[in-house]
Amino acid sequence: MIVVKVGGSHGIDYEAVCSDLASIVKSGQQVILVHGGSAETNRISEKLGKPPRMVTSASGYESRYTDRETLEIFEMVYCGKMNKSIVEKLQRNGVNAVGLSGLDGRIWEGSRKAAITILEGGRKRVLRDDFTGKVERVNLELVHLLLNGGFTPVLTPPAISYEHEAINVDGDRAAAMLASALKVDKLVILSNVPGLLREIQDEQSLVPEIPFAEIEEFTAFAKGRMKKKILGAVEAIRDGVKEVVLGDARKPFPITEALSGRGTVIH
Ligand code: ADP
Repeated sequence: MIVVKVGGSHGIDYEAVCSDLASIVKSGQQVILVHGGSAETNRISEKLGKPPRMVTSASGYESRYTDRETLEIFEMVYCGKMNKSIVEKLQRNGVNAVGLSGLDGRIWEGSRKAAITILEGGRKRVLRDDFTGKVERVNLELVHLLLNGGFTPVLTPPAISYEHEAINVDGDRAAAMLASALKVDKLVILSNVPGLLREIQDEQSLVPEIPFAEIEEFTAFAKGRMKKKILGAVEAIRDGVKEVVLGDARKPFPITEALSGRGTVIH
């Protein structure tokens, strides 16, 4: 069994991801797919007259400011448009996929951050109406039910808080939690870059391999959203996953390529 996370940024070839995933499933391997939807959410938010607002936490991580209205747009795009179009592509490729969010069956559960401290123009500010949080518990009953029935789960944020609110959570870290809860050996994280780059602008500067003991040396290269992927990889390996591959979802056979070691392999 493997867990595959595919991002939601520009350039990702979902057709390639879905057809590759279908051949892997047909070869007898179980796959759980986790996906994002950031670029499409930004586009639809603009169209709805509620442009996205990204905030940077005091600890330097970037996230989407998610008030209730943003959360509803987020759900429309992630659970609606993105999730259903991926399920449709998988069905077209002969995979009996079922699309769910982390709310369904409480698959991803965690605490909502009551307040987040952000940096704005060099000054600290506290936001209190933000529906974001972090996955702390994975409830696998529904996932096992689907896998045992021969279905392929396709999961997307949001997660659910202990107070039963939908919360926007990071997809990479949610996938990492899922991978360790399922005790899989491999987690593949696909996005619109070849892997971790020493220089973001230079695709030739790929870091091919990171032994876990040396991860600190490499985290400095990761900026913006790549930081969360590295954090997710660290959490997955710390919790028992043997290998995390950061691979390229713009290329054909992205999952097979990542599984054969193309990208950044963290082990
Ligand atoms: P997704 O939505 O696919 O999960 P993101 O766009 O959130 O992916 O994250 C991937 C992005 O991280 C890349 O497009 C790139 O701009 C950015 N990034 C920052 N630092 C690095 C780095 N050192 N190597 C590769 N990508 C990086």
